[in-house]
Amino acid sequence: MSTNKKKLLLHQCCGPCSCYPIHDLKLKDEYNVEGFFYNPNIHPMKELYNRLEATLQLNKIENVNSHWDEEYGLKKFLKLSKIPKERRCRTCYAMRLQKTAQKAKEMGVDAFSSSLLYSKHQYHHIIVEEAEKAAKRFGVPFVYDDFRRGHKEGIDISKEYGLYRQQYCGCIYSEEERYETQLPRNLEKYTNKEGIVNHHTTDTTNKDTDDDS
Ligand code: SF4
Repeated sequence: MSTNKKKLLLHQCCGPCSCYPIHDLKLKDEYNVEGFFYNPNIHPMKELYNRLEATLQLNKIENVNSHWDEEYGLKKFLKLSKIPKERRCRTCYAMRLQKTAQKAKEMGVDAFSSSLLYSKHQYHHIIVEEAEKAAKRFGVPFVYDDFRRGHKEGIDISKEYGLYRQQYCGCIYSEEERYETQLPRNLEKYTNKEGIVNHHTTDTTNKDTDDDS
């Protein structure tokens, strides 16, 4: 690792989404990259730790220094339950990017960025807006790149490394969106045209005996 290069703090939402940004930043060779995991939007707790572990696993392979804060923000997050999805996601991005910019400032690094820019499923333009606000607030430059171009490459790397791959964005609302059609479909094998087949039968064999007791 060159000591003359500038330093960049990469916010990491998970291991798989960090694969391509880390590879790409290393290839460009402009920054020494350090990772920062801070995602109190991930629920339940087991999922948070699975993703944190995958991130640390990746960083170890890539020789990237890890910083993390495993705050579990369920109670805080439930307060957002009544606001519409787009605004909820904006708040969620802002919370994580502000913390990253603050951390970058504390560390005295030259810039920050985020693996959120890799996802095809996020509101990309809102992430950029919130990152720029965070950069202004803490006086640390935000490095923008559209990491979505490396979507396939990122998936391949994460599979090669055997990283835990999550199935939904993070919060319980996104978990519901992910499974709301799939899980009911799994029950189809138990149904017929009339609906659920009731396999429970009443055993009448010992009815008289039972009544006598
Ligand atoms: S869907 Fe994802 S980005 Fe939006 S609030 Fe939930 S965890 Fe945050």
